[in-house]
Amino acid sequence: MSNNESVSSSAESIQELDSGLHFDHSFVDQLTGFYVKCQGEKAPSAALVKLNEALAQQLGLKTQNLNDSQLAAMLAGGMQVKGTEGVAQVYAGHQFGNFNPQLGDGRALLLGEVLDTHGERFDIHLKGSGRTAFSRRGDGKAVIGPVLREYLLAEAMYHLQVPTTRALAVVTTGERVMRNQLLPGAVLARVATSHIRVGTFQFFAARGDQESVKRLADYCIERHYPELVDSESPYLALLDKVCQRQALLIAKWMSIGFVHGVMNTDNCTISGETIDYGPCAFLDAYEPQQVFSSIDAQGRYAYDNQPRIGKWNMARFAETLLAFINSDESQAVELATQALERFDDYYYEFWLELMRAKLGLTALSIADAQVSSLQESDTQLITGLLDLMTENKLDYSQLFRALSQTLAGDLSAVKLLFKESQQLKFQAFIDWHQQWRTRIDLEKQTIDDIKISMLGRNPAYIPRNHLVEQVIEAAEQRADYSEFEKLLEALEDPFNERLEFADLTQAAPENFGSYTTFCGT
Ligand code: AMP
Ligand code: MG
Repeated sequence: MSNNESVSSSAESIQELDSGLHFDHSFVDQLTGFYVKCQGEKAPSAALVKLNEALAQQLGLKTQNLNDSQLAAMLAGGMQVKGTEGVAQVYAGHQFGNFNPQLGDGRALLLGEVLDTHGERFDIHLKGSGRTAFSRRGDGKAVIGPVLREYLLAEAMYHLQVPTTRALAVVTTGERVMRNQLLPGAVLARVATSHIRVGTFQFFAARGDQESVKRLADYCIERHYPELVDSESPYLALLDKVCQRQALLIAKWMSIGFVHGVMNTDNCTISGETIDYGPCAFLDAYEPQQVFSSIDAQGRYAYDNQPRIGKWNMARFAETLLAFINSDESQAVELATQALERFDDYYYEFWLELMRAKLGLTALSIADAQVSSLQESDTQLITGLLDLMTENKLDYSQLFRALSQTLAGDLSAVKLLFKESQQLKFQAFIDWHQQWRTRIDLEKQTIDDIKISMLGRNPAYIPRNHLVEQVIEAAEQRADYSEFEKLLEALEDPFNERLEFADLTQAAPENFGSYTTFCGT
């Protein structure tokens, strides 16, 4: 791929304007052939809807150096300021199990890498900034609803301590963009430790370009896992590390009831961050087979399938690295298979720790020798609760939050969540509760401390589907962002229950019905 295939050179340039950002383009400098230079399209009238002030400050963005329209134009991609060097990255990917050898940033561009105020490296990416060399039949645009949605979901995940790309800004473009109707155009500025995906490796591996795969692997090790440089077998270590990060990521998704919805290998990062908030959603009622995406007819990316798909994605990653793991192919396959097998162990250990913490089980008072024998019974305790939730269609987040109120023996907070018709089944919960309370007695902490710890692990606020829809409707129909601001404020401190946000803890009204999500931004 030549990198001088510039596309869409409609951006204005004000290179003398200093955004304060310390650009440092390692990907562009070191990985020629992995991208196409590209500029954003100039928006007719870019307007800033939201700037993530704390993140902007962390990145070193000096908003005082730019007037509002310059800042909006820069974040929409149509104005180049000092140091930016836009590119669209190339990648491939397995989409719903089928390999597509040619994808790439079709509606996004990498504005550049910056070193933040702590010297840490981040990509600034603009989603919806116009067509690129990889747009295929797409328009390269994004619309306000999905952009606000990604902002809310990504920031919610960040504050729930889940590795994720973050939202830096929302800008409207002043354009109307055709989806199933004409909608306000918008751009999301997002930030990630990098945008390298399993699909980036697959693009070069599928062409037999081993030299590029190796260059990419070396680059990833240096950028994300420098501790592996001196390892005996750095590429095997890279595979193991990425398996570990993905296992942790998916365990975190499962623990908060998050369904990603489109776990294609092009949406699977090497850094282990959640990326691509398209058809994702949080569970309301706990349902292991839950699928929200309109196009996931087979349930490939159902809630309960996510760990399995995570491992499948890691197998695709392993395939691209085989030649560097060992020169003997059968040896390489054996080593890679062993690394993949460890995914299950990593996942289980992370999941168990996270789920235990949700139940206040964090500090055992018993001898180490007895601890391991608890693994099995704790797993049963957790799955027992999940089964009860499935059977009674209990709201996942509400139930865990309510549990912390029942430690002293008053079960009314949970009883309220059972519908009248289910009260008979409440006895099963009482039985479960007794087992849990017996288990709690093995903990070192006092009941009061356990309650505090549980309240810090089980969010009061998640981006509930009906709330996100209300935000989008207000923005689309009335350019009203007050509901967005309110929900965001709650999500930015999700464990701290506040009276003014009482309505945001409620489950969807009965008439909300079943929820369907869509991929397109
Ligand atoms: P996603 O489903 O968001 O992971 O996107 C899959 C691929 O489709 C990526 O290569 C995107 O860049 C591309 N794509 C999605 N929407 C558009 C659009 N409106 N214009 C151009 N490319 C798009
Ligand atoms: Mg994607």
